[in-house]
Amino acid sequence: MDREKLLEGKKIAARINQMVKGEVLDFYKAYSFAPILCAIQVGDDKESALYLDFQQKIAKKLGIGYEVRKLDVDIDRESLKAVIAELNCDGNINGIILQLPLPAHLKANDIRSCLDPLKDVEGVHPENLGKIILNRNGLAPCTACAVMELLNTLNIELYGKEVVIVGHSEIVGKPLAAMMLNAFCTTTICHIATSERGLLAEHVKRAEILVVAVGKPGVVEGEWIKKNAIVVDVGINYVDDKIVGDVEFGKAYERAMYITPVPGGVGPITVALLMRNLLKAAKQQKQGNKG
Ligand code: NAD
Repeated sequence: MDREKLLEGKKIAARINQMVKGEVLDFYKAYSFAPILCAIQVGDDKESALYLDFQQKIAKKLGIGYEVRKLDVDIDRESLKAVIAELNCDGNINGIILQLPLPAHLKANDIRSCLDPLKDVEGVHPENLGKIILNRNGLAPCTACAVMELLNTLNIELYGKEVVIVGHSEIVGKPLAAMMLNAFCTTTICHIATSERGLLAEHVKRAEILVVAVGKPGVVEGEWIKKNAIVVDVGINYVDDKIVGDVEFGKAYERAMYITPVPGGVGPITVALLMRNLLKAAKQQKQGNKG
């Protein structure tokens, strides 16, 4: 396998982590405390517990404080909102993560709206999402930023590129589409209805840059990939105890100029950018700067 073709995230994540670690130290010297991230976990979903452990490990490495608020799966909407209100006011907490999935009686968007936008390190509050559309400085969703970071390292001209994004979630597809538009890409967003009309292949075949964030292994077939396209596979799927992406990797690899592996592509950069967002949030809180 030609490693030059593989867009590996680990090196990029290591570079970001190194930078954040140095800046956390500077922050500590300036304010005599390290930034603290608090993750809210409702219930005990096993996968999200693993993800929290990983975040905690990285935070520790970078000198960032990390707390988990474990809440009962039956917690009602008002009680959860009260916990968030308390964390919003807590001067010791600089960033808040609402870990998904939430139990069915709680709606992610409803709860996210209660976060203080200045502590919203996942960039999911309406104010932060709105800032992306307006191309203004805010806290942006880490996975969408991770895709842009990956493309930046390739030093390719984005202006005028045909970009196709498969998946229109609030944390990946939609904010990413706005970022691509801000970079003057010709941007197409596909989703379940595109597939249901049988039009997914047609759109994917046009993509010079393809980003797939669906959560279904093989939803994009390898032979649809345009020759020399750049393929960023955000999907994480567990198949026979292995983690795979959304793109049929083998054939896609043959056709692409660059392609991300899963795991080891977008994932590590996402967590590094979460910590970078936390640092940014802590600085903005100290400087009273809303961006
Ligand atoms: P989501 O689950 O909220 O939404 C899925 C999207 O895929 C929707 O837009 C839906 O319309 C679309 N879709 C579903 N079936 C489709 C089909 N057959 N054809 C075309 N589109 C289809 O999405 P999400 O939360 O963005 O997660 C997507 C994937 O990305 C998941 O596998 C998730 O685990 C992964 N993810 C990875 C990272 C990372 O850091 N690597 C971060 C976030 C999400």
